[in-house]
Amino acid sequence: MALIVQKFGGTSVGTVERIENVADRIGLFRKHGDDIVVVVSAMSGETNRLVKLAHSIDEKPEAREYDVLLSTGEQVTIALLSMALNKRGIKARSYTGTQVHILTDSTHNKARILSIEEKKMRTDLNEGRVIVVAGFQGVDEFGNITTLGRGGSDTTAVALAAALKADECQIYTDVDGVYTTDPRVVPEARRLDKITFEEMLEMASLGSKVLQIRAVEFAGKYNVPLRVLSSFDEPSFDDGDDAANGTLITYEEDEMEQALISGIAFNRDEAKLTILGVPDKPGVAYSILGPVGDSNVEIDMIIQNISADGTTDFTFTVHRNDFTQAKEVLRQVADELGAREVVGDDKIVKISLVGVGMRSHAGIASKMFKTLAEEGININMISTSEIKISVVVDEKYLELGVRTLHSAFGLEQN
Ligand code: ADP
Ligand code: ASP
Ligand code: MG
Repeated sequence: MALIVQKFGGTSVGTVERIENVADRIGLFRKHGDDIVVVVSAMSGETNRLVKLAHSIDEKPEAREYDVLLSTGEQVTIALLSMALNKRGIKARSYTGTQVHILTDSTHNKARILSIEEKKMRTDLNEGRVIVVAGFQGVDEFGNITTLGRGGSDTTAVALAAALKADECQIYTDVDGVYTTDPRVVPEARRLDKITFEEMLEMASLGSKVLQIRAVEFAGKYNVPLRVLSSFDEPSFDDGDDAANGTLITYEEDEMEQALISGIAFNRDEAKLTILGVPDKPGVAYSILGPVGDSNVEIDMIIQNISADGTTDFTFTVHRNDFTQAKEVLRQVADELGAREVVGDDKIVKISLVGVGMRSHAGIASKMFKTLAEEGININMISTSEIKISVVVDEKYLELGVRTLHSAFGLEQN
C-alpha cells in the first residue's frame, strides 16, 4: 500500500468520458490498496477560453480578478471527477485551493506556494476517502484567490506530495513520458525511462512544457519521487521500464546509461532586442538592463559586442509577450544614452541541447554548429552552461533545426 498523488492534465480530463476513465483508473489503484490524492487541471481548452474572455473585456485585466476567473476551470473538474468517483462507490471529496489551504504569496498570476495544511487531508485519507484537489490555484494570507502560472497544476501536485510525504507523484498526461524532444515535432523522438532532476530542470526551463519548471524545482528540493506517464494507457503495478511506467525523474546519475545528450528543448516564446552604438564604459550594462528589469520584464540571454570605436552593441532576449514593452523601455534608454538605434525581432526561437554527459565530452558545441550550418541555418546567439548549449535561430528553422540535431546526435536510436 502506498500514498500516491496523481495529477491529470487538461486532455486527460477533456471530456466527461475521459473523466469517467480517470475515475475507473483511480478505482484500480484503490483496489490495489493505495491511498490516492488527485490533482486535476481544467478541461482542455477551458483556461484558454477564460483568458480570451478576460481579454475581451480588458487587454490588461486586473490581476486579482484574472485569478478569480482562471481558477474556475479547475473547480468544474474537481466536482465532476468527485461525482464520477462517488457514483462508483469510491468515497471522494473535492477541494478548491482555498479549502485545502494552499497558502501562496500575493503575486497574482504567478504565485508561489508557501505552505499546505495536511491535517484535514490526513483525516479524509484515514476515513478512506480519495481527495480531489483543484490544481493551479491557492489563496494568499488575505484570502485572495491566486494562480500559479500556466501549467501550474503540476506544481500543485508536487507540493501536495511533498506536504504529505507521498510515496510517488504521478503526472498523467497525453504522452507516455518525457521524450528526447517534443514528439509532436519529431515523431521519431524516444521515451526516456529515466532522466535526472538536473536535466529535467534544464529541459523545463528551456521550453519543454511537459512539466512546469517550478514543479521540478519543488520535487528536487523536497525529494519527491516524480514520474510522467500517460493517462491513456493501462496502469501498471510493477516497476518495469516499459511505457506503462513512463519516465522517472531521478537523482541517481550513476545508474543512468551515460548518454551524451539526453534531450533537445526548444522555446517558441522568445523575442530579441538590440541597442546599437551605446558608449562602451563602466555601468552601461546596468543602465540598459536595469530599467528593463525594473519594468518587470525578465531577461534571458545577453550578448555584448566588443567595441571598435568606443561604442558597443547590446542584444538580449525576452518573452515574446514582453517584446513591445521592453522595446518601449529600450527606446527611452537609447535617448538617454545617445545610442544609435534600437532594433528587434520577435520571430526567433531558442533550441537547446541538454545532457549531463556534456561535462565530460568536448566537441558537442562544434558538432551542433556544424549540423546547423550544413542545413543553412544561421545562428543569431549562443549561450552555454555545464550541461546545455542554446542557440537562437529564426523561427522558420525551428522544426528543421530540432529534427536535424535530433538525428545528428543519434537520439532516436536505442
Ligand atoms: P497537460 O495538459 O497534461 O499538463 P501539457 O500539454 O502541459 O499536458 O504537456 C504535455 C505535452 O508536452 C505533450 O503533449 C508534448 O507535446 C509536450 N512536450 C514538449 N516537450 C516534451 C518532451 N520532451 N517529452 C514529452 N512531451 C513533451
Ligand atoms: N489549467 C491551467 C493551464 O491551462 C493549469 C494547468 O493545466 O496546469 O495552464
Ligand atoms: Mg501541463
